Amino acid sequence: MSETPHPGQEPQDGIRGLPAEDAVPGSLGRVAIVTGAARGIGAGTARRLAADGMAVAVLDLDAGSCGATVEAITAAGGRALAVGADVSQDGQVEAAVATVAEEFGPPAVLVNNAGVLRDNLLFKMSGDDWDTVLSVHLRGSFLMSRSVQKHMVGQRYGRIVNLSSSSALGNRGQANYSAAKAGLQGLTKTLAIELGPFGITANAVAPGFIATDMTAATAARLGLTFEDFQAAAAAQVPARRIGQVDDVAHAISFLASEGAGYVSGQVSATGNSPAR
Ligand code: NAP
Repeated sequence: MSETPHPGQEPQDGIRGLPAEDAVPGSLGRVAIVTGAARGIGAGTARRLAADGMAVAVLDLDAGSCGATVEAITAAGGRALAVGADVSQDGQVEAAVATVAEEFGPPAVLVNNAGVLRDNLLFKMSGDDWDTVLSVHLRGSFLMSRSVQKHMVGQRYGRIVNLSSSSALGNRGQANYSAAKAGLQGLTKTLAIELGPFGITANAVAPGFIATDMTAATAARLGLTFEDFQAAAAAQVPARRIGQVDDVAHAISFLASEGAGYVSGQVSATGNSPAR
């Protein structure tokens, strides 16, 4: 059965190559923005939402770095657009969201995924290390959510998913990151309260260890091989394996779906140890 297309979209017969019956119900033709989508969890999430039937804006610092994600989506028959913006910069965020709305139609899904690490023990952490991490994760998610919400309110529909972390509960060497990720949980719950009356949900996922460039960089900082670091982390996880990008993308796909309309203000842990 084909679905009714959403505003600004084409797809009575599915999105180029993607049969309508393969789409997640309610997702076909919806417009999603995934930040930090050039690589890692963001890239996997962009590919997954496109496979669900959405037209996906692949946003990262440099539009040129989004090419591989965009090509993977279009090669699979989906729709994707590379967008360059620093999520911590107000003007760049506004311009990026306006571009997406013009090219694809009003965004209905936002995944605030862009992130950086500036790990250090408290006594060695600089003010810049603090500001950079808070700016990208927390201010970036605030700016993106504020910019996109007007399009969501106009549609009386929206799904916001924020990337928190198990580190929100505290982690050695991550005072800045832990504070940002805990802050994102508060932001998520407030967005859920304020935007709920407009058909918009806001949720967070809080992954444990996921194999990406970010965790590879942490291994290097600690003087470990990535293999040893992964093995040590896996021993702490009930599933006895570390997480993969697709594990997180699957959880986000659910929270971004129309069927998850009565799930809001929640924090979903993915693959964490019982202590977390
Ligand atoms: P990643 O591989 O380092 O990718 C992060 C992406 O964000 C990069 O493409 C990066 O671009 C982009 N980015 C950085 N600053 C940006 C900015 N100001 N504006 C726009 N884009 C920006 O990280 P990941 O491991 O996939 O993590 C993705 C998210 O999940 C992060 O929020 C992270 O905190 C969270 N998370 C990860 C794990 C894990 O174990 N990996 C666990 C829990 C939570 P550049 O390449 O140009 O820097």
